[in-house]
Amino acid sequence: MSHSKHLVLVGGGHAHAQVIKALNKASRSKDLKVTLIDSQKSASYSGMVPGCVAGAYTAEDTLLHLEPLSSWAGIDFINDQVVDIDFERKEIVLKSNEDPVSFDAVSLDIGSASRGLKTTKGALENTIPTRPISDLVKRFDAETQKLRAGDSSAKIHVVMIGGGPAGIELSMSVMGRWKPIVGKDNIRVTVLNAGSELVSSETDLNRQTLVAAMEERGIEVRQESYVQEVKPNCVVLESGEEISCTHCLWATGAESHSLAFQLGDRGLAVSDRGYIRVNQYLQSVSHPFVFAAGDCNVIEGLSKPSPPKAGVFAVRSGPILVENLPKCLTGKTTKESNDLTAYVPQDDFLKLLVCGDGTAIGFRFGFPIQGKWVFDLKDAIDRSFVNLFKEENLPELEDGKPYDNSQYDATADRRPPLDPTDAAEIWRRTDDDLNYEEAWDVIRDMAADEQYKNSVLEILADRFGA
Ligand SMILES: Cc1cc2nc3c(=O)[nH]c(=O)nc-3n(C[C@H](O)[C@H](O)[C@H](O)COP(=O)(O)OP(=O)(O)OC[C@H]3O[C@@H](n4cnc5c(N)ncnc54)[C@H](O)[C@@H]3O)c2cc1C
Repeated sequence: MSHSKHLVLVGGGHAHAQVIKALNKASRSKDLKVTLIDSQKSASYSGMVPGCVAGAYTAEDTLLHLEPLSSWAGIDFINDQVVDIDFERKEIVLKSNEDPVSFDAVSLDIGSASRGLKTTKGALENTIPTRPISDLVKRFDAETQKLRAGDSSAKIHVVMIGGGPAGIELSMSVMGRWKPIVGKDNIRVTVLNAGSELVSSETDLNRQTLVAAMEERGIEVRQESYVQEVKPNCVVLESGEEISCTHCLWATGAESHSLAFQLGDRGLAVSDRGYIRVNQYLQSVSHPFVFAAGDCNVIEGLSKPSPPKAGVFAVRSGPILVENLPKCLTGKTTKESNDLTAYVPQDDFLKLLVCGDGTAIGFRFGFPIQGKWVFDLKDAIDRSFVNLFKEENLPELEDGKPYDNSQYDATADRRPPLDPTDAAEIWRRTDDDLNYEEAWDVIRDMAADEQYKNSVLEILADRFGA
């Protein structure tokens, strides 16, 4: 069959996974051909990776298998690395030197890189980096096997470089996984934070709760510890101090993907930090036939700064691309006639951090939640996303069936909201008996109704003394 338009998806990240599913052969227009190019056959869902490090999940649990998903959707999958894009010729250059792939529209969801990994002396050689995230799982599992096989009385010192959410979660996860293997007296975990406090954008109450949880689990935190070099058995700080370690993880946060930076030389508008500049429609500000979502973009034209690099924003961009990519190919995207859908990133979101022992801590509306039920809640949210793409759950395709993007955020059949006093009580519970669904309803009811939220928050402020 001949196709009149070719859409190429570069990178099978959190946003594109949804595009693949939605633009399946039964749902998309018959004259639209779609191709996915990814250097990996399976992408890791980042939300479950710290839990995987803690031993709560297998590596398989965290994976989205791009090849069977694409095959189900009738989308060509090219397992290759994109090394360049020629926007004049509309051609994508592959690492394998195969023929360039031509396109009518291209969308990039290629993620980000670990900040400073390539520019800090010794970091690449002597640390386990958090990105690419699927490599983290493999390398951590290999180290775990070595510890299991080795001298169980040997003392280990794990240094986590980076005190952001990923470094914090991973430090507690490593402790949770390795302490039972080497013994509680044989493991130290130290987080090196470049700033002067952890999670500086959170409220004092949230920060105190997190710091207390880390202390309880024996995690040391060193503030203002900027790493200058990593040697095989030690980390060198800017001050010259050397901190010896047996294992070192690089969890410094995101910097732009090298391909995104490089595309700036090809005329694509990128920011001075190398992020692809897009408008609210996730469309390049320089090339209307180019879209970018997730960690690799910076969004302009919002009434607030572009959202931080977190998977939740990549996930929320998916349905926007689903709307806009086909429209772009029907020629309705000129500045004069734009019927594209705008992405409005949420201001605050539920942040959930696993503690490595079957519990988790969360932050929402400036207040903390913690306990087993918080882990259960995170588990339910993450699994419901990943399960959408598991081969065994893919539905039979019916011609013309529309995409239901409410499926990972279903809010139907909820109980009526609890009385604010009871809701505030649930919010403060840390015991194992609380069913996460009850608490999840409270949080969603608060997000949906400003007045109700304020009533609950008032009671919470009183009880927490905040
Ligand atoms: C340890 C850790 C834990 C995290 N936990 C959370 C969390 O709980 N919640 C949260 O919101 N965020 C979390 N994050 C942040 C989250 O990982 C990112 O924001 C998210 O993965 C970004 O999604 P994405 O779709 O932009 O890209 P990615 O998920 O990184 O996907 C990019 C895809 O592009 C492919 N690709 C890259 N380059 C090329 C190329 N040149 N050619 C072809 N294919 C390419 C990759 O193979 C990959 O499949 C965490 C990050 C880390 C490191």
